[in-house]
Order: sequence, then C-alpha cells, then structure tokens
Amino acid sequence: MAEKTLFQKIADREVPADIVYEDDVAVAFRDIDPVAPVHVLCIPRKPIPRADAVEPEDEPIVGHLFTVARKVAAQEGLEDYRLVVNCGEKAGQTVFHLHVHLIGGRDLGNMTSG
Ligand code: 5GP
Repeated sequence: MAEKTLFQKIADREVPADIVYEDDVAVAFRDIDPVAPVHVLCIPRKPIPRADAVEPEDEPIVGHLFTVARKVAAQEGLEDYRLVVNCGEKAGQTVFHLHVHLIGGRDLGNMTSG
C-alpha cells in the first residue's frame, strides 16, 4: 500500500491538527501557517494528488469540497472568502494531496485582476 500523505495522516488523526469539520468524504483543518485570520484546508479523504489527477468518478468528491468550504465559512462567520487550489510545484503546491484553501477574515483584494 502506498505511504500515506501528510494530509491522510491528519485526516486519520495520526498527525495532530485543528480539525474544524469532517464527514465520510472530506476533512477540513486549520493551516499551520495561516495567511489570513481564517485559513482552512478542505481535503478529500481519498488521496487524489493534485487537481489534474481528478478523474470523472471523483467529480462528486471535488464538488463536495465546495460544500465543505461553504459550511466551514459559515461556521467561521465569513460572508466573503477566497478558495484556492494550487496545482503543481510552479503553482506553489507543496503537499501532493488535493486541497482547497479557504481563506478569509480580512480584505483580500482581487488577486486575479491586473
Ligand atoms: P499548498 O502550498 O500545497 O497549496 O498548501 C499546503 C498547505 O499546507 C500550506 O499552506 C501549509 O502551510 C500547509 N501545511 C503544511 N504542513 C502542514 C501541517 O503539518 N499541518 C497543517 N495544518 N498544515 C500544513
């Protein structure tokens, strides 16, 4: 069996983390190095390594991550927030277990303009 990813170990509670939400499909926990007052990583329990490894059968899982992000945003009292997925090293991906960054709690500006 392949070695577990860091995020699988967090989901399985083998590595400690501040888990803020979990269900059968996904887990959400606070980023260890937050860039904003709220910075939560939403991950599937399935160890999909990166966004371009998502297969058609994974689409419900990936869609579910948006639902998880919405629930956590509501829990955290966020009306506005940013969701980020880094795909690949040059895009800044450092942990190769698919994750959606949920970032909010401050004015984030618009990172895609200009
Ligand atoms: P990436 O750069 O791959 O998109 O995001 C990986 C994120 O995981 C980073 O924001 C980093 O701070 C976070 N991270 C790395 N190691 C740990 C850890 O052991 N625990 C937690 N909670 N977050 C981590």
